[in-house]
Amino acid sequence: MAENGSTTPDAAASGSGQVKNIFVMVADGAGFNTLEAVRQYLGDPRGGPAGELAVDQDGFVATAQSVYPLDTRSEPLPGPAGLRQNPATVYSPAQNYDFTKAERESADGFARGFDGYDWNRGTAPDSANTMTSLMTGAKTYNNAINVDGTGAPLLTLAELANSEGKATGVVSTVQFSDATPAAGGGAHNVSRANRTEIAEEMFKAGVLDVIGGTGNPDYDDDGKPVSEARYDWIGKDLWQSLKDGTFKSDDGSSWKLLQDRADIQAAGSGDPTDLRLAMIAEAFIGTNFYRTGGDPKNEAPLTVPRLETSPTLTELSQAALNKLGTDDDGFYLAIEGGGVDRAMHGNNFGRMVEEYLDFDAAVKSVIDWVNSPESEASFEDTLLVVTADHDHLLFGPEGEAVPYQRVQEDRNGDGVPEYQWFGNGHSNQLVPLYAYGAGAEGILALAGKEDSVLDANGNRLAGSGRDYTDQAELGAYLLDQIRPGVGEQANGSVTDGWLL
Ligand SMILES: [Zn+2]
Repeated sequence: MAENGSTTPDAAASGSGQVKNIFVMVADGAGFNTLEAVRQYLGDPRGGPAGELAVDQDGFVATAQSVYPLDTRSEPLPGPAGLRQNPATVYSPAQNYDFTKAERESADGFARGFDGYDWNRGTAPDSANTMTSLMTGAKTYNNAINVDGTGAPLLTLAELANSEGKATGVVSTVQFSDATPAAGGGAHNVSRANRTEIAEEMFKAGVLDVIGGTGNPDYDDDGKPVSEARYDWIGKDLWQSLKDGTFKSDDGSSWKLLQDRADIQAAGSGDPTDLRLAMIAEAFIGTNFYRTGGDPKNEAPLTVPRLETSPTLTELSQAALNKLGTDDDGFYLAIEGGGVDRAMHGNNFGRMVEEYLDFDAAVKSVIDWVNSPESEASFEDTLLVVTADHDHLLFGPEGEAVPYQRVQEDRNGDGVPEYQWFGNGHSNQLVPLYAYGAGAEGILALAGKEDSVLDANGNRLAGSGRDYTDQAELGAYLLDQIRPGVGEQANGSVTDGWLL
């Protein structure tokens, strides 16, 4: 476990300031079957080979990570008990791959599948919890934004990058103050539900140079102005002062606010603003996922036109990079494909594919940007991590008979792969973890556990056989990549630096 911030010797040795720039890209909710679904969708509809994602190209290392919570409780708990790992929630191949037919009655209309699925339903983390682990190296409870199990604030990757003089930013296809971008942006709160407080911290703290996402009080989810503003995701005073240019962060700095898509596109090139950059797109909850029209539960991907008014995740990322990429000390950028998780909660397979394609394009654009002559970065000094925060229960069409069946290629000629949902909430399964560039091999070295159920003779009875690390171990490793002089610290004992 990584609560004490230690990493393996290999990992620490390969880090120690080698990484100047760091990207953490999270496709929210996207498990192995999400990626498989997109590969099948991109593939030859006549049963030919599956398509390729950005992470399938040469140069990426591929492994997996566990994402289990400290506990599934939704509030902090004072004292030592608050930091105790609940053993029942720890990822366990034996419990995950329990193929006993589930006998419990379905309360929610979904097939129960197998006892392993029920174990997943009962032990799953939320995005606040998981993004906190990735950002701080600590496990915590569901709802926690960069606080530990007792509610104490934790040092985040964004803050460490900022204190090292790096430029920092976070962009998302959903509300900028929702759990994943909030944690990715270095906010702290005992509950993700305190959205306007979180927004306030993100803008005031002086940690972030770029904030991008939705949550715009003045627009609906079709990009149309609303008659009465909704201050669910950002408080009225903060929003008004951002709009009229009077808002100041605690350090006295000002922000440039962009809402119009054309302005966000234009910010992707040319001289960047000297101010901190806020891009709050003309959308309330999501850039595209919540647009009306079509039949989201049944529609094929890309059959309902995407909104002209919403930026793509690529456009948000490029505008962020044009601003952050000029810092001589390097940068940290978190990029979230937030609509993937929303689509999976809605069991909207087609829009899940769409939202992952938007994310996948952003991965490609980031690689192209690093490799372009205009950028001073290269993959010699830049680490790109592409992963998910957690998974759902999406399997193949014979999922009631075939446990953990992968999503299958299209069989009825509609161009859509074959699948079945086993719930509309999160799971506790392993998620894909890819890395590219400086420090990527060190991530592969973290993956010391194997996703297998073994018999007494060590023969594999069940499981994917994948090697995996844990999200908190990965988080500790990422902090170590930009922590100065960690290589000189004996025993990796950097515990004192972890609590703010
Ligand atoms: Zn979710």
